[in-house]
Amino acid sequence: MKTDIQIAQEAQMAHIKEVAASIGIQEEDLEFYGKYKAKLSDELWEKIKDKKDGKLVLVTAINPTPAGEGKTTTTVGLGQAMAKLGKKALIALREPSLGPCFGIKGGAAGGGYAQVVPMEDLNLHFTGDFHAITSANNLLAALLDNHIQQGNELGIDPRQVVWKRCLDMNDRSLRNIVVGLGKKTDGMVREDHFVITVASEIMAILCLADDIFDLKKRLGKIIVAYNFKGEPVTADDLHATGAMTALLKDAIKPNLIQTLEHTPALVHGGPFANIAHGCNSVRATKMALKLSDITITEAGFGADLGAEKFMDIKCRKAGLSPDAVVLVATVRALKYNGGVAKDKLSEENLEALAKGIVNLEKHIENIQKYDVPVIVTLNSFVTDTEAENEFIRHFCEERGCEFALSEVWEKGGDGGVQLAEKVLDTLEKKESHFHPLYKDELSLKEKIETIAKEIYGARGVIYEPTAEKQLAKIENMGFGELPVCMAKNQYSLSDDATKLGRPTDFDIHIREVYVSAGAGFVVALTGAIMTMPGLPKVPAANGIDVSDEGNITGLF
Ligand code: ADP
Ligand code: MG
Repeated sequence: MKTDIQIAQEAQMAHIKEVAASIGIQEEDLEFYGKYKAKLSDELWEKIKDKKDGKLVLVTAINPTPAGEGKTTTTVGLGQAMAKLGKKALIALREPSLGPCFGIKGGAAGGGYAQVVPMEDLNLHFTGDFHAITSANNLLAALLDNHIQQGNELGIDPRQVVWKRCLDMNDRSLRNIVVGLGKKTDGMVREDHFVITVASEIMAILCLADDIFDLKKRLGKIIVAYNFKGEPVTADDLHATGAMTALLKDAIKPNLIQTLEHTPALVHGGPFANIAHGCNSVRATKMALKLSDITITEAGFGADLGAEKFMDIKCRKAGLSPDAVVLVATVRALKYNGGVAKDKLSEENLEALAKGIVNLEKHIENIQKYDVPVIVTLNSFVTDTEAENEFIRHFCEERGCEFALSEVWEKGGDGGVQLAEKVLDTLEKKESHFHPLYKDELSLKEKIETIAKEIYGARGVIYEPTAEKQLAKIENMGFGELPVCMAKNQYSLSDDATKLGRPTDFDIHIREVYVSAGAGFVVALTGAIMTMPGLPKVPAANGIDVSDEGNITGLF
């Protein structure tokens, strides 16, 4: 069997201007990054902004195994299948982070015969958006430390600096550091921290901003520290906003690439779904809705994280409304949720499947709380058995839930036709009455509790004393109306990664809460979740190489 990268390297890509032409984009509206990548110009938005929106389909999943359950694969395959059926579909995805690429999970270009290409470029540096975000983030950090060094006119309390440096890498030794060591001219000594770029507020801002002007406004509102009186100090106060915006002038423009079957795909922005809000940029989604009849987009990890934040943060804030949700399940993940070890997932085990399927059940119920039609798709692995497939099909049909088998990994668009037909049928016959889960007016605690109880199935929420204080302060500062961005592990519906399936009788533990005033949400850290991941004992990086012929190998 060929690896993802072998399949991707054998692809005959079309020039990106031809892919763009298939959705009516002229060459003059493209900014080329080589032959196979382009950014969409701001002028294009001006031309299309008054067009009618197409339909919006969200792809999400059950709680995953560490390898991922094939949401990107399904999203790409569904786009390819829509094209097979003669539909004008556009895929909207996130850009991969280098962290997981070199860690456990690998890249994020899809897999098998449902991939976007060029996959090496996408997974490695792509069009430089993440470098721009990292630079803007660290410019703000440098300006902040310099301000303290140069006399600290704003009275910034070095013990209350909340802005963190960032890097797009899993590097645990940067989680907690000391900066400014050395002589007087080397800066003020203080404790500092790094987050991974995909968890930074700038990433969230870039993904939620309407355009560069909105981006600038949001950057200015970022709270970087508190002064000795306890009042917030912002990026505007540091006169950092203009230069940060300049660094992001190209990063705000969506990137266009193609699938293995030349279907267009917008790939833009990449916040993680466990520690950030988990969906591609509003700008790319809005452009996709104007440029196509059906936009297929993915939200990260399980529906408890990605879909919840897609609906309660992205859609609420951007005025978007999903028309249908595709919920990806795999036999492997259901068995994993039923307690089977990672290395035994390829063996038939109907007992474990029956035990783990409660996870799927909970996610179906959760999506229904948003009043959006849901279609379950089984992302088929060659190791799955007929009996396992039938068990899941029957389970869905018993609950009046649409079901389709997807074989896009093995067969590309052809393997997704059954799913595409189900999606089209649903879009035609079932109306979405989308609404967010909770109202803006609820207190922050009520919002957190609503998510914990309704989506996670928790008994209650326990706050650490620091979190209690932070919540009160954030509400006093006037940010109580914002939605909450939950940071939680992706494996369990609870905040304990070992509680699989559909856990009951558990509490959610809120450790820390902070406001991302520019992004426009309040982040609540649950359990032991970290905003800077670490690498595993044997990182994926160990298997990546450049061959004697100059080809990249081992990337997946
Ligand atoms: P997600 O988006 O849910 O994290 P991906 O689509 O990125 O998951 O897939 C994760 C990995 O699993 C990829 O390496 C992909 O090639 C592989 N994969 C996905 N679907 C299948 C399948 N049906 N059979 C075998 N491997 C698959
Ligand atoms: Mg993915």
